[in-house]
This record gives sequence, C-alpha cells and structure tokens, in this order.
Amino acid sequence: MAIQVYDTLSRKKEELITRDPGKIGIYICGPTVYNYIHIGNGRTYLSFDIIIRYLRYRGYDVTYVRNITDIDDKIINKAREEGVSAEEIARRYTKAFHDDADGMGLARPTVEPKATEHIRSMIEMIEGLIKKGLAYVVDGDVYFEVTKFPGYGKLSHRSLTDMRAGERVEVDPRKHHPMDFALWKAAKPGEPAWESPWGMGRPGWHIECSAMSRKYLGDDFDIHGGGQDLIFPHHENEIAQSEGYTGKEFARYWMHGGMVNIGEEKMAKSLGNVILVRDLLKEHNPNVLRLLALGTHYRSPIDFGPEKLKEAESAYERFLNARRRIEHSLSSETVTMLPEKVELIGSLENASLEAKKKFIEAMDDDFNSAAALASMFELVKEINTFIEAFGGQMTIMAKDALEKADRILLELSGAVGLDLTLPEAVGVAEKLPDAIYELASVVLGIALDSKKKDQLLDEILERRNEARKNKDWAIADMIRDRLLKMGIEIEDTPLGSRWKIK
Ligand code: AMP
Ligand code: ZN
Repeated sequence: MAIQVYDTLSRKKEELITRDPGKIGIYICGPTVYNYIHIGNGRTYLSFDIIIRYLRYRGYDVTYVRNITDIDDKIINKAREEGVSAEEIARRYTKAFHDDADGMGLARPTVEPKATEHIRSMIEMIEGLIKKGLAYVVDGDVYFEVTKFPGYGKLSHRSLTDMRAGERVEVDPRKHHPMDFALWKAAKPGEPAWESPWGMGRPGWHIECSAMSRKYLGDDFDIHGGGQDLIFPHHENEIAQSEGYTGKEFARYWMHGGMVNIGEEKMAKSLGNVILVRDLLKEHNPNVLRLLALGTHYRSPIDFGPEKLKEAESAYERFLNARRRIEHSLSSETVTMLPEKVELIGSLENASLEAKKKFIEAMDDDFNSAAALASMFELVKEINTFIEAFGGQMTIMAKDALEKADRILLELSGAVGLDLTLPEAVGVAEKLPDAIYELASVVLGIALDSKKKDQLLDEILERRNEARKNKDWAIADMIRDRLLKMGIEIEDTPLGSRWKIK
C-alpha cells in the first residue's frame, strides 16, 4: 500500500501521489523571528522533521523549504521596545532559531528563504493579482479582494458569512469586504520599507509564503504544512493568492500539526504560558523531546506537563537500556551451541521483521508515529526476553540474531530521527551498566560468588553516592530502582547509604 496522507482540504486520508514520481516538494511555514521558539513551535517543526525523514527513508527525494519571516509587525514592535533596528531583532532571533533547531536535531531545510530577500517576487505576484482584478490599491496599501476568488474558505471549510459571524473589530471602511487582507502595507515613518509601484512599503505576511514557495517549488507542489493555527487565515489566504495568480492548484496536500496546550489553553507567546525549547534542552536530551513528539499522532493535541516529559524520559531510558544490554551481550564471551535455545533465535528473527513491517505500516498510515513507536517497543521487549533467556551465554547464532535485531532497531529509530547510539559514558555513569549487569548475573545465581557480589555492590553504591553528591538524581534513582528490581534495597541514612537483600 502506498503512503496515506490526511489532507486538511479534502478532510480525508489520500494516497500520496507526487507531482514528479519519486520526488516531493514540501513547504513548511517557518518562524517569525522576534522571540525564542517555544515547545509548541518546536513540536510542529519536529513533527515535520519526522515526516520528512521518514519520506526520505522510504526513498523519496525531498526538497524541503522552510522560510524565515524576518519582516513583520511583531518584529517592528519588538525593535521599537528595545530601541534597536528591526534587522537587529531579526538577525538575533534567526540565530537563536538555528541554535534551537540544531539543538533539537532538526534536519536543515534544503532551502531556507528569508522574506526580505524575496521582496521582488512578492511585488511581481501582487502586480499580477491587481491585473487579474483580484486585488486593489488604497492609499499605498494593496488588498486581496476575497469575494473575487470563488474558492475562498475551501481550506478552513467556512463561508464568508461564517467568517463574519462574531466579528467584533471595527471594519476598515477602505476595504471592499471585511475579510479582504493586506498584500502590501504602506510604510509608516521609521518602519523598514521597500520601493514598490504603490510607494514605499512592505509585504503582508501571507504573500511571503506564496512567493517563496512558488520560487523554490513551482506553481504547484506536493505538501504544504504548518500548525493547525495557520489554517485560517494564513493558509486560506496563501491559496487565494497563489491559485488566483497562477490559475493552478497550489499544494496537493495540506498537512497541519496539532497544538501543544497547557491545560485548556494553547501554548502561545501572547498568553505568556510558554516553555522555551532552549530551556527544555538544558535539562533534557533532544531525543526525549523527539520521543514526546513521536508518542502522539502529529494531528492530535498534546497537553504538556511534567508527566509527559517523564514518559518520554522513561521511553528513552528503556531504549538505551536495551541497547546497553545488547552491547554487553555481544561483547561477552561466545559459548558453543545450546541446542534447546534454537527456537528462541528463530523467534527473535521473526520479531525483528515483524517490528519493521508494523513500523512501516504505521508510518505509511498518515505517519502514525505512536503506533510505529509501539512496534519498536515490542521489539525491545523481545530483545530483553531473548537476552534474559540466554543469561549472558550466547552462541554465535544467538549473537547474530541479536545483532540483526539491534540493526533493525537502529534503522527504524533512525528513520524518524531518533538517535539511540549510547551516549559517551561520562563521569559517574561510566561503566555503570557493566557493573549492574555483572551484578545481575551474580544475583541471578549464574556465578554464585558472594564475595564478588559484595565488591560489586560496594562499587555501585560508591558510584551512586558520587551521583548524589553531584545532584545527579536521575542516575542515583536509576541505580536504586534497578537494584530494587534485583531484590536489593538501598537505605539512605545520615551516615551514608547501605544495601540489604530483601
Ligand atoms: P509562529 O511563529 O507563531 O508563526 O509559529 C511557528 C509555527 O509553530 C507555526 O507552524 C505554528 O502553527 C506553530 N505553533 C505555534 N504555536 C503552537 C502550539 N502551541 N502548538 C503547536 N504548534 C504551534
Ligand atoms: Zn506561511
């Protein structure tokens, strides 16, 4: 089955048929650079990063365009507040955006056009729209006339009458219809401005994306995306401008990501309830953020809170634990064939292939990353069972099967941008897994040597104490929890920590 994509315009899942076979052109609305991005923005960019990486994994040659809106009222206001130029604000937050995007591990777009470098293309489109009778000029401003574009409202599934319902703001009497929107804004004193046939001014936000997508992807292209809050008016207006100008269908598929909410409210700069990507990255590995995005379908909302982060942390930890155990097993001594375990090998091989099949089916079905992740966890479970069954004594065939399972785990995680390579062991965590696994085998009675057990436990406690001293609570807790699972309890007393067998 081919990849299915949910299209906001048709409101159904459709088979992905690209304009040019094997190729995909995608345009994602990028940030307006006047502030640091929050995790709502971050989630949207991550969702499309996951989708784009997966399309590449499936063999598509993807041209990914994500713009920078570097001229806008918000930038001008911020510049005024700080008493610096709009260029300065745009430069500062473009750099900050790049740092955050790299920090999240986002693939760089193929092209990242800046609005201020494409003013001519915008003017050309606006002129065309005026010529076609779809736009009009008033006092140096240019407006798009929505009633002249028959499809206006088709993306947001609203009629012009619906749009006017609940209208509270005073209508600008110079506009022919209250929903008419600005293509070009006459400059006010002190604002950045460009020459145009209508006098000095600057483009409206919507025309920027119509002009830049057209320049890099053509009149018609495959996927246009952004967060659901952009459906109206931004994307509705882009369709009106682009289709009005070219007379062709603009994007074949419209994809929109769900919002990140805090309680009942959307996370938004204007509401002051934001958590910045850069702040989260100070405390969490970028793979944790990615797992947070992967764990929910891209179209569904995420109600963000500490428990969501915890879930993602523990998912990451579960993957890393499996990978540590795999590496440990593969590097342990190989034993000769134990005939009764042959069927285990066959079943791990089947489980690996099954996981890959389910992963692809899930991602092909409108990028159902939550189901894809579940298939990866099924594989992790099989891997853990396999390692336990062999109890550290693996044959060549067993190691082969485990290595293949590991390769598939890495292939699937890589397909959605998760990096499951084991982090460099640092400081206190160094060699910790080895000690724990060695201890596990001692406790499990594989090598009943109580002196060794005592030594290992003392060594592990020593590391845990160091972690506590460094306030590395996650590691300290992890050690305690793992020991507890083996039936060893740690007691923290004022005189230090002690262990006892439960
Ligand atoms: P903006 O800078 O507000 O234009 O937003 C940049 C991108 O982030 C757009 O694709 C928005 O749809 C998206 N976005 C903004 N707020 C949120 C949110 N709370 N949750 C998810 N995506 C969001
Ligand atoms: Zn846009």
